[in-house]
Amino acid sequence: MYDFIIIGGGIVGMSTAMQMAAKYTDAKILVLEKESGPAQHQTGHNSGVIHAGVYYTPGSLKAKFCLEGNRATKEFCDTHNIRYDACGKMLVATNDVEMDRMKALWERTEANGIERQWLSAEELREREPNIVGLGGIFVPSSGIVNYAEITRQMGSEFTKAGGEIRFNSEVKAIKERANEVVVSATTGDYNCRFLISCSGLMADRVVRMLGIEPQFTICPFRGEYYLLPEKHNKIVNHLIYPIPDPTMPFLGVHLTRMIDGTVTVGPNAVLALKREGYKKTDFSISDTLETLTNPGVLKVLKDNLKPGLIEMRNSLFKGGYLKQVKKYCPRINKDDLTPYPAGVRAQAVSKDGKLIDDFLFVNTKRTVNVCNAPSPAATSAIPIGAYIVSKVKEQIGDLSFFPSSYEETPKYYSQR
Ligand SMILES: Cc1cc2nc3c(=O)[nH]c(=O)nc-3n(C[C@H](O)[C@H](O)[C@H](O)COP(=O)(O)OP(=O)(O)OC[C@H]3O[C@@H](n4cnc5c(N)ncnc54)[C@H](O)[C@@H]3O)c2cc1C
Repeated sequence: MYDFIIIGGGIVGMSTAMQMAAKYTDAKILVLEKESGPAQHQTGHNSGVIHAGVYYTPGSLKAKFCLEGNRATKEFCDTHNIRYDACGKMLVATNDVEMDRMKALWERTEANGIERQWLSAEELREREPNIVGLGGIFVPSSGIVNYAEITRQMGSEFTKAGGEIRFNSEVKAIKERANEVVVSATTGDYNCRFLISCSGLMADRVVRMLGIEPQFTICPFRGEYYLLPEKHNKIVNHLIYPIPDPTMPFLGVHLTRMIDGTVTVGPNAVLALKREGYKKTDFSISDTLETLTNPGVLKVLKDNLKPGLIEMRNSLFKGGYLKQVKKYCPRINKDDLTPYPAGVRAQAVSKDGKLIDDFLFVNTKRTVNVCNAPSPAATSAIPIGAYIVSKVKEQIGDLSFFPSSYEETPKYYSQR
């Protein structure tokens, strides 16, 4: 019998596992991951940005965890010699509408407690000679890192503390009983006292395994990137972001300096016809039917028909994609765009047809389930893990089946 089982070897699962093992030092803890290694889905297919927390609704979990996660991620990297670059981010307004939106963002950054600097067009040009705009906001705390590397390190901290990881173990069924949870995976049945699921693109399916009808569905959005040629590796000094439409903050391709020295453009957001479908041609009948027969998803698609169609067109035709980048970086040409591996976002959509904005958790007596952890969840993974540890503690208190000697002070993260 395990004390805890954690489903998912992405950054959220591994951060949680690492912090659970640090807190409950004598507990028997198992991570079950269906792939052959960690970080094979969202965590290994993202922009690698350590976000500062610019866009998020003040007071939301996203705003709080992102701000705390920015610091915690850098501290974790410092402790474990993981390379990151606190290169800062530049938000650029290219027209009057964006200038107005930028003023609103300036207020939001104030409310979210983020250090930033307002730049005139001239100051922007001085810092970024290849970028054009009417002005910008410079956010110094944003940075870049390889999240797969962080996740591997978290896994190693977890196993060093006595935790066990089983790869190639896909969870197929779960039974929550009065005194235990039985988890049936492709490698066998496992019993535990408490279960935590951090299953990303499969979050709704895992909740359904518990016999609960989730009030949300996971809608997969593919994010496609292009890589710039080596000659453009120094085209920007910071991360360059357009000013987003506040109703769709995840739209708008950015120029990202990657930790390996290259520069990518992207990502866009197109509906994926397969949950873990990374190629344009990837298609699953069952995933597509599940997505396109869901009333919530259909409402989201209907309400966002125009931007959705534009994203699809820009996905199929480089010209449209290029136009978005040329707006603020005119030096980039069509030939500069080489396809780069895409990622698929797990975006939870509510039954009544809304994109769920904040991080979402669904708990039962013996389980905590992460149900919506899109960007900036990689940046926020350490605070999310700490939050889960605190939720488990609350629930275990109710069940009172762990001797108090299991506890010690959290090692990886404490709120300031
Ligand atoms: C294109 C893109 C760009 C992004 N850019 C950024 C960024 O720059 N900065 C940032 O902070 N965030 C970014 N994000 C978001 C970030 O990558 C995710 O929020 C984060 O990686 C989520 O981690 P996770 O562990 O919840 O999910 P995942 O990494 O998807 O991990 C979930 C794991 O659960 C496993 N699993 C699922 N079901 C089962 C099962 N039944 N049995 C066993 N295992 C199972 C999966 O195999 C997977 O390994 C981006 C995301 C995308 C897609």
